[in-house]
Amino acid sequence: MQFIDLKAQQARIKDKIDQNIQNVLAHGRYIMGPEVKELEQKLADFAGTTYGVGCASGTDALLMPLMAYDVGPGDAIFTVSFTFIATAEVVQLLGATPVFVDIDEKTYNIDYTKLEEAIIRVKNEGKLNPKGIIPVDLFGQPADYDEINAIAKKHGLFVLEDAAQGFGGIYKGKRAGSLADVAGTSFFPAKPLGTYGDGGMIFTDDKNLYEKLLSIRVHGQGTDKYNNIRIGINGRLDTLMAAILLPKADIFEEEIGLRQEVANRYNKMLGQVVKTPYVKDDNTSAWAQYSILHPKRDQILAGLKKDGIPSAVYYPKPLHLQDAFSGLGYKYGDMPVSEKIAGEVFSIPMHPYLAESDQVIITDAIKKYAI
Ligand SMILES: *Cc1c(COP(=O)(O)O)cnc(C)c1O
Repeated sequence: MQFIDLKAQQARIKDKIDQNIQNVLAHGRYIMGPEVKELEQKLADFAGTTYGVGCASGTDALLMPLMAYDVGPGDAIFTVSFTFIATAEVVQLLGATPVFVDIDEKTYNIDYTKLEEAIIRVKNEGKLNPKGIIPVDLFGQPADYDEINAIAKKHGLFVLEDAAQGFGGIYKGKRAGSLADVAGTSFFPAKPLGTYGDGGMIFTDDKNLYEKLLSIRVHGQGTDKYNNIRIGINGRLDTLMAAILLPKADIFEEEIGLRQEVANRYNKMLGQVVKTPYVKDDNTSAWAQYSILHPKRDQILAGLKKDGIPSAVYYPKPLHLQDAFSGLGYKYGDMPVSEKIAGEVFSIPMHPYLAESDQVIITDAIKKYAI
């Protein structure tokens, strides 16, 4: 049994993937080949945005928008502590200051009441300039964008949706990737829409931002490659990665439906034993992870390991307690919900092709070790 079975998907579409790889080898445009544009159009249409900008990773899909907004020293960017390091790493990398906000105890996404408190606090302190918000669509469920966007508007901040896990999910009829000023997603192999290497994409309706992103993606180029008008990066998506993604994108919506069926079965099997994921009525999760809570988490994980059942902990240590951010001066107790969830959360196998018989084995083992 595997945590994420990438082979099952590959078996379905291998002919198309092989053909697309051969096409790239034949035309030889390994950098910014036609498949990149095709994928950008396809996924922007899927997300419901005007523009898609392919880039080298989910991390660059967050870094490049921050660069486009000229985020730098003195700026405060509000985000969560209960997320993957990349979400806040990109802020620090630009010399700006991540301001961590605790999460909602049901969805594990940013608590928007605490978000506004944090913005007002930073404004009153007068040391940092509140500039943007990065909500994360954790485990696949979009954050509360109506409330977040309203708060952002009121205080003059931009919103960058971290849709690395949420892409494919839906909020009030709109797809993740289209829920804020700009969004970034990841094509890391294990993400809901993953390639066979690194990759990412940025989505926006903002033409001005789009043009800046194109420039930043290629070392801040102006009218041509050797006319540089700003500092950028090498943030390109490889043609091969885009070519591999095209047939995957064709079955993505169907796969989200299959993930939902897997989640429904888990919910039934585990409802009495652990705290199962809470997805709001208005939301569809992309089910990047199926994450559950139990106070005896470590005991259960040891048992699963003994039985050869894969599991993972996303995330054992919130970012405000990581050494990488020790300079920010946070301490244990500052984000009580994030800290509590980090102590009890674990994730079990989740992918579109997970058999019900395997789910029975997994959930029986959890029931056995939860006692
Ligand atoms: C995976 C992930 C990223 C980074 O994506 P990479 O493609 O690995 O750079 C950023 N944010 C979140 C929430 C993620 O899960």
